Amino acid sequence: MLPLPERFVARVLSDLGETEGRALCAALDGVPPVSVRLNPAKAPQPEGPVRAGTGAASCGVGPEAACCGSGSDGAAGVRGAAAGTDALRGPEAAAVAEKPDADIPSPVPRREVQTGSASVFGANPFAAEAADADSAVGDSAGASVAAAASAPCTGAEKVPWSRWGYYLPVRPQFTFDPAFHAGTYYVQEAGSQFVDRILAPYDPTGWRVLDLCAAPGGKTTLYASLVGADGLVVANEIDRRRAQTLADNVRKWGTGNVVVTVNEPREVAAFEEWFDLVAVDAPCSGEGMFRKDGGARAEWSEGNVRACAVRQSAILCEAWRSLKPGGVLIYSTCTFSRTENEEVLEAFAGACGEELAEAAEVATDPAWGVACGRVGVFQTFRFYPHKARGEGFFAAVARKTPGAGGRMRTPKARRALFGAVTRDEVRELGRWVLRPERMRFLRLDETCYAYPEAQADAVRALSEGLSAIASGVEMGRFFKGRLKPAPALAFYAGLDRRALPAAELGAEDALRYLRRQEVGAARFAEGMNLVCAGGRALGFAKRIGGRVNNLYPDSLRILKNE
Ligand code: SAM
Repeated sequence: MLPLPERFVARVLSDLGETEGRALCAALDGVPPVSVRLNPAKAPQPEGPVRAGTGAASCGVGPEAACCGSGSDGAAGVRGAAAGTDALRGPEAAAVAEKPDADIPSPVPRREVQTGSASVFGANPFAAEAADADSAVGDSAGASVAAAASAPCTGAEKVPWSRWGYYLPVRPQFTFDPAFHAGTYYVQEAGSQFVDRILAPYDPTGWRVLDLCAAPGGKTTLYASLVGADGLVVANEIDRRRAQTLADNVRKWGTGNVVVTVNEPREVAAFEEWFDLVAVDAPCSGEGMFRKDGGARAEWSEGNVRACAVRQSAILCEAWRSLKPGGVLIYSTCTFSRTENEEVLEAFAGACGEELAEAAEVATDPAWGVACGRVGVFQTFRFYPHKARGEGFFAAVARKTPGAGGRMRTPKARRALFGAVTRDEVRELGRWVLRPERMRFLRLDETCYAYPEAQADAVRALSEGLSAIASGVEMGRFFKGRLKPAPALAFYAGLDRRALPAAELGAEDALRYLRRQEVGAARFAEGMNLVCAGGRALGFAKRIGGRVNNLYPDSLRILKNE
C-alpha cells in the first residue's frame, strides 16, 4: 500500500491538531473492520421492544461537537428472530399467502435497536447455511463455504446504529457463500449504514426515494428495505457499467420496489418535487477509503478534492429540484475534506435560503464515536476511523420547508413502453407471487414485469421519461401459455414457492450451480425447479430426464476458483 499522501497528512494535522491528526493517520494504516447488513426480507431479523427516547441522545450543536446525551442501552431487547418470506416453503408459505398482510416482510417498526444479543446469532443466516452444508465441506470450496457460513457470526457484533448491521470477526470469502448470492446480506461499510439511523425519526414505509448516485447499491438496498413493499426507490447511476452491477445487486436483494436508471442528475431532476427522500451519496476524493483502497491514495490530489467539490455542488442543486416540500435530503461522502463536505453544504444552503429547514433531530450515542455537528440547518455526522468503528464517512441531513416549492412536475413520456397482459396471463403470473392483488403486471416487449400496485403509475412515468435498465420484478416470458421465469424472479422475496418444486442443494453442488457447472439430477423434479441452498433461492434449473439445464445467468456466475 502506498503511504498516505503528504499533503493529505499535512491538512489533517492542521484541521484536527497534532494528536487527533496522527491518530487518524495511524488508523488509516490499520486493518479495516468487515461489516454486513442483513436483508430483512430474506434473513431472520432482530426485533426489539419499542424504546422510543431511550438508549440514545441528541447530538451536540456546533461544529464537530462531540455527541452528547445519555448513554446507550446496549444489551437488552433482542427478542429472537422472525422468518422472512424467503425461508417459507410448502404449507407455511400457503399460510402466509392467506394472511392479508403477508408480502415482503415490512421493515420493523421504528424503534430503538439494541446492540448485540446472542439470540440474533443463533438464528443468523450464516449459521443456517452451515447447518445445511453437506458432507462435502471437507474440500477446499466447501471449506470456504463453511467459513463464510458459520465463522463470521460466531462473535459477530451488532453495528449499533444500524438495525440490520453486523461486524464480522474475520473477513470470509463472500464469493463462496451461497447466502451472499441469494441476497441474504449485503457487505457494507458500517458508516454507510448510518443512513438507517438518520431516518430513525421517520416512518418511511411507502416513501418514494431518489438515490441519485447509487452504484453499486449499498444504500439503495437499505432504502428498499426501509420503504417496504408499497414504497419505491429510484436508484440512478450515471456510469452504465456500474449501473449494471447496481441492477444485479438490486435484483438479488429481491424487494421488487426499485427502478434502476442510467441518467445524468439533471435528467432525473426533471421529475420535480417527486420524492419524499432524496439521497446524494456523492462521488468524492475517497479519503475515507484510504485504509482499504490503495487506488484512492494514488488518485488523491488537492486539485481532485476541489474538482469533486464543484461536481458535488452541481449534483446537490439538481437533487434539490426533485425533493417534495417537507421531504428529507441526505448528503453523504466517504471523505474527510471540509471542502467536499461542510463547504459544499454552506454554499448550497446559501443558494436555497429559506427553502432549507432542519430535519428531525437524529439521536446518537457518544459511545459510537460519531462526531456530530451542524452546518446551518444541516445536522452532520462524521466517522473518523480512529474514533468510530468503520471507514471514513460524512453524512448530513436537512429538509425542504413544507411550504416551499411550486408543484410536482412529471416530464412528458419520451415513448410509450408498456403494454397490457391478457387475463389468462395475469392468472398465470399471479400464481408465482404471494400477493398478486397488490401487484400490477405489465409487458415490456415480450417480457412481463410486476410492480407494487401503489407505485405502478410512478414506475411507468419514470421508465418512459428516463433510461431505466431494471425495474420491479422481472417475471419472465410466456411460452404456450406458461411463464418461463426470468432469473430475477428466483430472487424475489415475494415469490410463491408453491409455483414450482424446489431442489435443495448442499454446499458443493450449490457452488457448482453458481459456477454454471453441471449438477446431478437426483435432487430435481422433472421440469422447472427453484434451486435453493439452506432454503434460500439461488435461481432456476430445468430437469429434462437425466440432465439438468443450469439456468443461472452467465453474467452472475462465479469465476473465482479459490
Ligand atoms: N451510493 C453508493 C452505495 O452506497 O453503494 C455509492 C455511490 S459512489 C460514492 C458515487 C457514485 O456517483 C459512483 O457510482 C459514480 O459513478 C457516480 N457519479 C460519478 N459522477 C457523477 C455525476 N456527475 N453525477 C451523478 N453521479 C455520479
